[in-house]
Amino acid sequence: MVEEQLRTRGIHDPRVLRIMAAVPRHLFVDPTFANRAYSDHALPIGQEQTISQPFMVALMTQALGLEGDEKVLEIGTGSGYQTAILTELADRVFTIERIPEIGIPAQERLTAMGYTNVVFRIGDGSLGWREMAPFDRVIVTAGAPRVPSFLEEQLRIGGCCIVPVGDASNQSLVRVTRSEEGLKEQVLCSCTFVPLIGREGWSSGEPG
Ligand code: SAM
Repeated sequence: MVEEQLRTRGIHDPRVLRIMAAVPRHLFVDPTFANRAYSDHALPIGQEQTISQPFMVALMTQALGLEGDEKVLEIGTGSGYQTAILTELADRVFTIERIPEIGIPAQERLTAMGYTNVVFRIGDGSLGWREMAPFDRVIVTAGAPRVPSFLEEQLRIGGCCIVPVGDASNQSLVRVTRSEEGLKEQVLCSCTFVPLIGREGWSSGEPG
């Protein structure tokens, strides 16, 4: 997976490559999908949600530019696979999942695997996590209708956020950096994520 799907497609951060090789993705999918765990595909995790494709996990992680001492907010815990990668590369991770049937098993999985520098929450992450802010990095793993407004308060100056923005058919992966002057956006590539559903996201009936 690392050699064929990541290194040859522009993932060059040695820490990201090392962790992607080390974290066992097959433990984050239903056993019936275990034989496809190391192919470059999103896979179902129930409740109409998916574990993201490994290339996208690596690309987003690399774009965060983690050095090891960051406090990270992740919105969309999903299976916990991306969470595991983040906890290996940052100091602390705060992760929010909207659907308890997904978030609670993810917490149990990561706890059983021995990850201790992660705090879990079930709820609407489209508003961020005000009580735990500010964050050095934010990663949103569901497609938002716009760049989340909570970044103006909850992202530390000098920090960045990676977020897919757009509707169901046309999303861009955006890096948002915060400086004294405000937020600046840079489009990294096109992408396709399940919708971010919540007060600052899509409502469940909308075409996310
Ligand atoms: N990165 C995850 C992984 O490795 O398994 C995959 C995340 S999946 C593509 C997106 C997740 O975002 C889903 O589990 C979905 O329930 C969650 N989600 C959607 N809207 C949310 C919200 N407002 N707050 C928190 N989680 C949300």
